[in-house]
Amino acid sequence: MRPIELAPLFAPVDDLPGVGPKVSEQLSQLCGPHVLDLVWHRPLRFIDRRLRDSLVEVQSGETVSLMLTIGKHRTPARKGLPYKISCLHSETAITLLFFHARGSWLSEQFPEGAQRIVSGKAEFYKNTWQMIHPDLSLPPEKFSNLPDFEPVYPNRSGLGQRTLGNAIRSAVGRLKSMDEWIDPALKHQRKWPDFQSAIRSIHSDQDASNIPERLAYDEALAGQVALGVLRANHIAASGPNLSAQGKLRKTLVDSLPFPLTSHQVNAIDTLTTQIRGPKQAITLIQGDVGSGKTLVALCTILQAVESGHQGVLMAPTEILARQHANTLTNLTEKLSVNVVCLTGKDKGVKRTEIREQIATGQADIVVGTHALFQEGIEFQSAGLVVIDEQHRFGVQQRLALSKKGQTPHLLLMSATPIPRTLVMAAYGDLELLEIREKPVGRAPIKTIAKPKESIPEVYRSLERLLDTGQQAYWICPLVEESESLPGVADATTRFTDLQKRFGDQVGLIHGQMRADEKDEIMRLFKAGSIKLLAATTVIEVGVDVPNSTFMVIEQAERFGLSQLHQIRGRVGRGALPGVCLLLYGHPLSALAKQRLEALRSSDDGFELSEQDLRLRGGGEILGTKQSGLPDTKFLDYGLHTDLMSVAKKDARKFLSEDPNLTSARGLAMRNLLYLFGKDEAAPLLKIG
Ligand code: ADP
Ligand code: MG
Repeated sequence: MRPIELAPLFAPVDDLPGVGPKVSEQLSQLCGPHVLDLVWHRPLRFIDRRLRDSLVEVQSGETVSLMLTIGKHRTPARKGLPYKISCLHSETAITLLFFHARGSWLSEQFPEGAQRIVSGKAEFYKNTWQMIHPDLSLPPEKFSNLPDFEPVYPNRSGLGQRTLGNAIRSAVGRLKSMDEWIDPALKHQRKWPDFQSAIRSIHSDQDASNIPERLAYDEALAGQVALGVLRANHIAASGPNLSAQGKLRKTLVDSLPFPLTSHQVNAIDTLTTQIRGPKQAITLIQGDVGSGKTLVALCTILQAVESGHQGVLMAPTEILARQHANTLTNLTEKLSVNVVCLTGKDKGVKRTEIREQIATGQADIVVGTHALFQEGIEFQSAGLVVIDEQHRFGVQQRLALSKKGQTPHLLLMSATPIPRTLVMAAYGDLELLEIREKPVGRAPIKTIAKPKESIPEVYRSLERLLDTGQQAYWICPLVEESESLPGVADATTRFTDLQKRFGDQVGLIHGQMRADEKDEIMRLFKAGSIKLLAATTVIEVGVDVPNSTFMVIEQAERFGLSQLHQIRGRVGRGALPGVCLLLYGHPLSALAKQRLEALRSSDDGFELSEQDLRLRGGGEILGTKQSGLPDTKFLDYGLHTDLMSVAKKDARKFLSEDPNLTSARGLAMRNLLYLFGKDEAAPLLKIG
């Protein structure tokens, strides 16, 4: 149950004064449906409304607030001309201009001889100051109510800035002083304001473009407390004892035409130990594209199978599931292990049959999409679940797995390495294994950067490449032309252009297509009937087409480092070396230059992800989303590593003393969880 004192913040937005049905809909679209969502909506910039003493230093076009003495009104001589009011700012004349104004209203608002504070854009025109349609005008005694800095909010909703500002102001006004959840000593030491003042300052203080550090800490703490609670209540479960001798695994490894890398061996050893139980293992394996994670997964799955349980491999897409199923079937050919694959595509009798095999245990290894779990497939006994490309799955979904009454061991695999400190800060007590070493004998991908003017030349290279029977990708940042992002390359336009030159060898794939359409295109590409694929980053994950050797990334400067690294990992997966061509636009910022340079000089995903974080300072979410880290409001993974580790320690210490958050500070922390949307943890707390 949500604490009662938060009710005003979780009321729908139309609960606010002056917010009717229309405005409430616009607000919901812009910020969210609750009053609290308005509180989180941060200003883009501020208008300085402080009173000016003089016009001497004012630049024409600047927005200023002035105390004026109102003079003569001059009504327009004919239609279309402005209504003018002559005023004085001490000795300086300034004229207020109004088009299409009602004279009666203006004489009421600006009585001759009165003092008014007027704020708006002052322009120096034909040797005199004027202000057309002031933003606001007030009698002096009312001016003190106005904030010095007026926030200007991001606003695409068609709402008036004034209406939006007023709604947000009343939303923020609902924030009452709350009991503190931060450790008092820490708060004192860092000289942090309380939560309410911190939030107020982001809406009113010009300098608050640098977010109060405490809000980032609050968010980190909320995350850590939620993780701690979830872990304690949910997943500190026991896992099955999968302690087979390892005969199957040995047979498999002996049959491979290559030796395992030492990192693969290590990972397999560690996992083999972890899945012996009694504790449920939850382990994240990070390793670059091509580092051989699938084999690690399979070896671990074979332990489960040999122990009399089933092994499950989940992939984010249909095509990846099929690909994995094929690989595993081939690899286990001599082991008399039964691999089945189940995705949304399997219907009718076939589906029933596969489900039957899964339920009876005839299927030893089950490969599927995550739909498997959403529709509640019954397993005879799932001992281990491997989730490939884990960043496609939310924490929620992962936990849903372990709620099904069974608590199989969990192995998450990601090809977008993120720094260890971050993994720990974001996900808490997950075991982490890294595969940093790559199999030997793999030709490195050659990465080249060229300005976009070289596109004609690139077309010629493509022509030669396709003639040799090899395949290529062409990646663009957008799906289609966008008005709001003029000049940004899109896959649809590129596709049309490539088609002109290369005809029906060209295909198009992007995230707005239906899943079955995408699968069909990928199938054609794998089969080689499509040779050149114009795409967005949908192809980034796991897709393996060994014959594709060339990758063009258009406007490479628009992507994050880790993401670029991920994308380029699609080529050079076969015997032939891969080439990745980064096409960049102008002007290229120093930062973008550094990024492309880093990419050219390193082929190590771990190193690149660390650099990425350093270079971007976390500001751009593109890459962060990619990495699978949770979205944040204030917390910047690049900047706040220190805060994250403090929050983690504090949460852990606190929960060990008050696991159900029942002390005074614990109750305050419940508020914190709700405020930052960590509700999934809250129902687990025992009340009282
Ligand atoms: P990823 O980590 O991207 O999932 P995969 O498991 O798909 O990588 O492996 C990529 C390719 O490398 C596969 O064709 C696999 O058979 C091969 N491979 C895996 N381990 C080794 C190894 N130790 N030596 C040589 N090739 C390997
Ligand atoms: Mg893989």
